[in-house]
Amino acid sequence: MAFEGLAERLQGTLQKIKGKGKISEADVKEMMKDVRRALIEADVNLKVVKEFVKNVSERAVGQEVMKSLTPGQHVIKIVKDELTELMGGEQSQISFATRPPTVIMMVGLQGAGKTTTTGKLANVLRKKYNKKPLLVAADIYRPAAIKQLETLGKQLSLPVFALGTDVSPVEIVKQALEHAKEEHHDVVMIDTAGRLHIDETLMQELKDIRAIKEPDEIFLVVDAMTGQDAVNVANNFNETLGITGVLLTKLDGDTRGGAALSIRSVTQKPIKFVGMGEKMDALEAFHPERMASRILG
Ligand code: GDP
Repeated sequence: MAFEGLAERLQGTLQKIKGKGKISEADVKEMMKDVRRALIEADVNLKVVKEFVKNVSERAVGQEVMKSLTPGQHVIKIVKDELTELMGGEQSQISFATRPPTVIMMVGLQGAGKTTTTGKLANVLRKKYNKKPLLVAADIYRPAAIKQLETLGKQLSLPVFALGTDVSPVEIVKQALEHAKEEHHDVVMIDTAGRLHIDETLMQELKDIRAIKEPDEIFLVVDAMTGQDAVNVANNFNETLGITGVLLTKLDGDTRGGAALSIRSVTQKPIKFVGMGEKMDALEAFHPERMASRILG
């Protein structure tokens, strides 16, 4: 399970101060040494660790704890608050266009789970938001990718707009937008090409697609199992393309959690959904507070 090591470490550390009736600066220092180590072992970005430790330490030796009747529990609450804040605080919503269709561009590296997540998200949009999504197959470089999206579409009974591999992605998207208007689709989800690495051609193509009609959301799909690489990819996509949110996949695996804890802080962009399995219903809205509770027990 994700976060297993981190959860165990942090819970063990916090257990030691839980019942304390008085907490000294030395206690806080000792505790934060453990917390720091646990976060680093969980592959959390170093800068993020430093900032987190600083924020918790400042609050934990401050007035709010001194005046508290249960200082131990108060410190634990501070850790939980700061962990929640680190992951974005409030749950982040999807931005829908005021005048439909809402355009959602799905981007990411090959294998991250982009196509699968496109299907899962379309499913959520239909079921929870009552939308009528159109899936657009704009990855013309891998014929298998178009097939995969069409198979998902069949499975979910959702229409897929595809023009094969001989038409350019820009042209496909233009035609798809026309088609969406005619057929009254209120959401258009573009499954763009993934590459093994970020390269200029990939980014230029994504920029060209973005330029057709400014998307309401540009979601980057990243694999939680890749840890700090996921954070670097997110940073890179955000700097060159500008993303509006992250969909973090494979959180059902035994990832140490570094990506989930670092992405928001590093990119300033929220994690909106998390993938919890291969099935089409295994996509959950990301709740920072619930995730913090899960980690801290
Ligand atoms: P793409 O190349 O980015 O489009 O990636 P795919 O959508 O083809 O996914 C790659 C693999 O990851 C597939 O085997 C998916 O079933 C799997 N996958 C995607 N999301 C998840 C997830 O949240 N959990 C698990 N366990 N597997 C996932």
